[in-house]
Amino acid sequence: MSTPEVLKAALYAAEGTAAVPDHPSLKGGRCQCGYVFFPLQTYGCEVCGRTGDALQPVALSGRGTLIASARVHIHANRAPAAKPGAKPPEVKPHEAPFTIGSIKLEDGPTVRTLLVDIDDRTLAPGQKMVAKLVSVGTGDKAIVDLRFTAAT
Ligand SMILES: [Zn+2]
Repeated sequence: MSTPEVLKAALYAAEGTAAVPDHPSLKGGRCQCGYVFFPLQTYGCEVCGRTGDALQPVALSGRGTLIASARVHIHANRAPAAKPGAKPPEVKPHEAPFTIGSIKLEDGPTVRTLLVDIDDRTLAPGQKMVAKLVSVGTGDKAIVDLRFTAAT
C-alpha cells in the first residue's frame, strides 16, 4: 500500500518527534529568543520582533492538553454546490455536527483543530490529547488530514 498524501504538508508531517514518535508532528517555528510558535512564518516574532533567519522551523510534538472545546451543530461556511460536470472534490467536506478544540501543545503553542473519536459528554478541559491522521479522500487517491483525539 502506498503512503497517503497529507492534505496540508506545510502544517504537519506524518512523522513524529523524538519525544512523541507515535503521533504526527506539527510544523512550527522557533525564534532565537526562544519563543515557539505555530504555524511556521518568517514575518516576525510576536515576542521580540526578529525576522527572517532568526525564525527557524521546528517539529512540534503532536501531544497537548485540551483548553476548551465546542460542538458545532450548524456550519455556515458550506461549500458551494458543485457545477454540473465539475470534478468532484478530492476531500470530504466538513459536515456538522463536529467538534473543535483549543489544544495547548506540550511544546508551547496553542492550536485550534478538529477533534475526532471523542465523547462530547465526557470531554473536559485538562484532557490529554494527541494528533492523528484521518482519511479524508473521496477518490482513489489516499489523502489524510490532521485531527486530534483523546490520549488513552
Ligand atoms: Zn523572538
